[in-house]
Amino acid sequence: MIELEDVWRIYQVGGQPVYALRGINLKVEAGEYLSVMGPSGSGKSTLLHILGLLDRPSRGSYRLDGIETTQLDEEARAGLRQQRIGFVFQVFHLIPRLTARENIELPLMLAGIAPAARRRRVQQLLKAFALENRALHLPSELSGGQRQRVAIARAVAMEPDLILADEPTGNLDRKTGLEVMEVLEALNCRGLTLILVTHDLELGRRAPRRIEMRDGAIVRETRE
Ligand code: ADP
Ligand code: ADP
Repeated sequence: MIELEDVWRIYQVGGQPVYALRGINLKVEAGEYLSVMGPSGSGKSTLLHILGLLDRPSRGSYRLDGIETTQLDEEARAGLRQQRIGFVFQVFHLIPRLTARENIELPLMLAGIAPAARRRRVQQLLKAFALENRALHLPSELSGGQRQRVAIARAVAMEPDLILADEPTGNLDRKTGLEVMEVLEALNCRGLTLILVTHDLELGRRAPRRIEMRDGAIVRETRE
């Protein structure tokens, strides 16, 4: 599904090049669960942003289901992103003035889904993520774990096949964090590809396939 070939990402900072990614090669099959580990500054977020079509390689190839994404214009990339990819971040990025239900509904509205279908889908999601009795609460009225479940429900509202999670438990206590990991892993059990970026070794080891980054390169890969 994902094929990166010799992907480089070079930032210019004050006229000097910063090599965030140096020739990454990576293939991920549909349905895999992969963790990306490595110290701060090793290129994990840059890699995730490129995989999520939020950023482009400075050079190299990124094929998603055989489509060479580096050749696509922004509109085509945004379309693929909306249909195919769900993002989960450390900060939940919920809209504070919208209820849990409205936050989850947002991507469906943006995609132009009809109101009746939207209502059905939101109801399913509230149920699947144990948020039924939190539907009318604002984010400020939810616990951290509930907020992240709303963010995950929103991320999968459009039925993506790829979930990109960047330190999804970073703002949660250990127990709540593990519950959120279980929610993400349940999505993977349903067939979604899950890519988890974390500097937490214990969390990273939950994935059957792990890559470790240093200075913009993959230095180690483990598979169970
Ligand atoms: P990680 O997620 O592993 O902490 P990042 O991908 O955020 O690593 O960063 C990799 C390298 O790229 C770091 O040296 C960082 O300073 C640099 N970098 C990341 N984003 C930018 C940016 N927007 N502009 C300049 N340098 C950046
Ligand atoms: P069921 O197993 O009967 O589908 P669930 O409570 O697991 O019951 O899910 C209810 C509905 O919520 C599903 O039909 C699906 O539409 C939605 N849902 C649950 N998990 C996911 C998911 N990972 N991605 C997308 N939709 C999901």
